[in-house]
Amino acid sequence: MRNVLSIDVEDYFHVNNFSCLIPRCSWDQFESRVERNMLKVLECLAAKRVKGTFFVLGWVAERFPEIVRDIYSDGHEVACHGYSHQLVYQQSREEFRCETRRAKRLLEEITGRQVVSYRAATYSITRESSWALEILAEEGFQYDSSIFPIVHDHYGVPNAPRAPVRLKLMNGLEMVEFPMSTLRWFGLNWPIAGGGYFRLIPYQVTKAAFHHLNHVEKLPVIFYLHPWEFDPEQPIQKAGMLSRWRHYLNLDRTLPRFERLLSDFEFVPLTELSTRQEYPQVSVGEVMGLDLSSPLASTPNALGRETQP
Ligand SMILES: [Zn+2]
Repeated sequence: MRNVLSIDVEDYFHVNNFSCLIPRCSWDQFESRVERNMLKVLECLAAKRVKGTFFVLGWVAERFPEIVRDIYSDGHEVACHGYSHQLVYQQSREEFRCETRRAKRLLEEITGRQVVSYRAATYSITRESSWALEILAEEGFQYDSSIFPIVHDHYGVPNAPRAPVRLKLMNGLEMVEFPMSTLRWFGLNWPIAGGGYFRLIPYQVTKAAFHHLNHVEKLPVIFYLHPWEFDPEQPIQKAGMLSRWRHYLNLDRTLPRFERLLSDFEFVPLTELSTRQEYPQVSVGEVMGLDLSSPLASTPNALGRETQP
């Protein structure tokens, strides 16, 4: 079965884990390592003849357009990771629309091709920020991969579907959602398919989870990593213990594990997984557990700072 390979193209100082330590205005003062790390990723994928989807941060695309050109010329899908890596539920609707439009335009100017897939910074499309899906559809996106159906301190929609669905949005448009893959175990969804979870869990467990999803549940796995996860030599930040553990755990194991995964399973870009008509249609209110008569369904966001444009 075909699975989705996705890479969120950002630098080590962009991550939400370090946002208290590294303010956005200081990013330009840090040593960027995203170019060299992307070379590793692209070389590995070329050697294995695998294509994937690259959700590129607008901030990175603006400073390193060559990265976007390399992704595109290697035959991968160029997709959007927003501009500033700000959490969606911390933005107003207007801020979100502006920064998403800016990032999409940047990428499209570099490649000359329409960008149709989106992933929010730190999977921050949650119940409180589900309005963002409407804006994405209005801005021309067709595919989203921002919903993580788990319980987590920074993101997650615990009861969201675990399989791809066509979301019927409240503005009448539609968005195909590819949730990050999970395993159902003891009544809960467990993350198994990427990032820190991939570095934490022994490879044989990841492999068994892929097998279960592909062959028992007949589901594609939506797998993700970041270029900084291939970089054990990156500068160490003086963050709290939990943040450091999440960020630096087993970085030296990412590349060999990733190579094994690419040999053991089949991967494609998100847009090539299958035709959208194959997925069931569900309403966004149902997925997010929204009571459509409640103010949450029609009002802005958790901050209540903005009216609908
Ligand atoms: Zn990110």
